[in-house]
Amino acid sequence: MTTVIRNLDWAVTWNAHAERHEYARGIDIAFDAAGLIHVGKDYAGPAATTIDGSDRLALPGLINIHTHPTSEPLRKGVTDETLSPGFWHSSLYEFLTTIGNDPEGMRAAVQVAMGELMLSGVTTVVDLSVPFDGWLDILADSGLRACIAPMFRDARWLTRNGHSLEYEWDHAAGRKAFDAAARLIERAQQHPSGRLTGMVTPSQIDTCSAELLRDAHDLAKERNLPFQVHAAQSMTEFQEMQRRHGMTPIQWMHSVGALDERSIVGHGIFLDHHPWVHWPTRKDIGLLADSGATVAHCPTVFAKRGINLRTFGDYRRAGVNMGIGTDTYPHNFIEEMRNAVYIARAAAGRLDDTFASDVFDAATIGGAKALRRDDIGRLATGAQSDLVLVDVQDRSMRPLYDPLRSLVFAAGERPITDVFVGGEAIVRNRVCQTIDLEAATEALQEAQKRAAALVPERDWKGRTMSQLAPLSFPMAAR
Ligand SMILES: [Zn+2]
Repeated sequence: MTTVIRNLDWAVTWNAHAERHEYARGIDIAFDAAGLIHVGKDYAGPAATTIDGSDRLALPGLINIHTHPTSEPLRKGVTDETLSPGFWHSSLYEFLTTIGNDPEGMRAAVQVAMGELMLSGVTTVVDLSVPFDGWLDILADSGLRACIAPMFRDARWLTRNGHSLEYEWDHAAGRKAFDAAARLIERAQQHPSGRLTGMVTPSQIDTCSAELLRDAHDLAKERNLPFQVHAAQSMTEFQEMQRRHGMTPIQWMHSVGALDERSIVGHGIFLDHHPWVHWPTRKDIGLLADSGATVAHCPTVFAKRGINLRTFGDYRRAGVNMGIGTDTYPHNFIEEMRNAVYIARAAAGRLDDTFASDVFDAATIGGAKALRRDDIGRLATGAQSDLVLVDVQDRSMRPLYDPLRSLVFAAGERPITDVFVGGEAIVRNRVCQTIDLEAATEALQEAQKRAAALVPERDWKGRTMSQLAPLSFPMAAR
């Protein structure tokens, strides 16, 4: 059953010879469930369905290499402005542990996140979650291509005072979770949807022993899977790794053999050149580039806390493969791309640090490379039928001069009309076809209420949610 989109006003197509995206106009794109059949002028073959492309821009489906959909949607309005001065205002150590989701809430959160992602053009997503019942089926039901990243670790974080981070080590539990993750990845690969894959994901560089990290990386090598770990993501972590090993998190990752072309580093911010760390070496960015590793760049969540990668353009020019992720709400991938450009420029103090096309590369072929795939993130004959249609006549896109700039800097996700994965429309006429987003949002609202009630017993100081995260304004006296 072939679909053809005729006479596209604009398209971003892949030139395999030059290894770059290019604009094309007036072309046809024909595809079926197996892949893209034709990307070019005048498709003459058969077609069961014809779509008029004359007011559309076609883009390759976007690739999100880092997201936590089970937990992050729950925190909307709560963790945007929470203070954690003892941990350089990272939200990881005081808030991640206090605002938790329950199984029912997790299902709702995943649905909300996946719905938002597909509405903003994502067709492949990496889901870093602690496994729960029904996880694989929820992801498969979304229709997205999902790479499960079941997290495991030897230690959990604990603070008793809001400024010292303690690690509660339980190596047996870490090993057990690692084994369970390995089995779950196998199940994902065998899932009848055919859209699930897996990634080996020790949670954080500071919560895993060298043995666990090495074994996890060996498993990834043995099964030819990607590998991801959070590293260089906070000042507290940087100092802890320096205290334990006398080297930066990236240098330690390299020293234990966990940094190579299959490694994705979330988020790779606190490298030795970052001005906050005042560290005397200048090796980290070169280690990342030489190893062929990818940085999963999620600018929004860090910018909220006053933290920036220095800088997207410097990493790219050094030769580091960059991919984009959404590490917080909203799961709006176009906004994340916009933030990546603006934050890079603001951090660099120069416009030419990063262009929209650089971030688009990261959101497509950079992500594909990280996932070790050459069949996604591009519109080329033979690639997967994962594509996005944008209404270029939408007010948000006009006046139209350069469609990528209109989309990234002005329109956001609003003009995205249709999203196809494997040739199947998971978004049609701006409506998510696979998820009841209203019902999921309602369920998420209830989950946030339940989570709020549990905050005092989870917080080291016994604070309520409204004490941890005061409302923007005091309530008026009646
Ligand atoms: Zn993360």
